[in-house]
Amino acid sequence: MPRAVEALIFDFDGTLVDSDEALDAAFRAVGADPAAVGFGHAIAEACAHVGCTVEEYADAYDETAASPFAGVDDVVPLLGRWALCSNKHPRSGRAELERLGWEPELAVFADHFDWAHKSLGPVLSLMGLGADGVVMVGDSDGDVRCAEGVGCRFAWAGWNPRVASARPGGLVLDRPDQLLDLYG
Ligand SMILES: [Mg+2]
Repeated sequence: MPRAVEALIFDFDGTLVDSDEALDAAFRAVGADPAAVGFGHAIAEACAHVGCTVEEYADAYDETAASPFAGVDDVVPLLGRWALCSNKHPRSGRAELERLGWEPELAVFADHFDWAHKSLGPVLSLMGLGADGVVMVGDSDGDVRCAEGVGCRFAWAGWNPRVASARPGGLVLDRPDQLLDLYG
């Protein structure tokens, strides 16, 4: 069992919400091939890669389509301190947070990072926490790099089938309720 943490910092897409199809559908709607993009990238980088603007993409994104992974909705109200750090467009992310009724202490999206790939340094500063007090929870190599960038621990969202089939090294949580065990 890992030592206790003061806060969990979550990626959003593919970690808390099963949004692959919603993300892909928006690329198809702007005439792009989602297979050319993949998941976990900064939205501006992904849009530039396929030749659309982030606003065109956000307009095409269905903010009602993605659902939480099984068990996540039950666990979110039980979390201690937690934050969201996501590469997605702030309009899409904030609309989904509101729809789901989730209220993280802090939620930062792509605009917070001038549309470059997210990082955890600003999140830790805003929360007044050191890297040793948090665990990053995510589903992509970019999320791992965020954790490595500040030197915090990382846990894989193993309830995402893509993560489960990849069988990554390190700490893999099989069920969302295991998140609660990470707190002291
Ligand atoms: Mg993700």
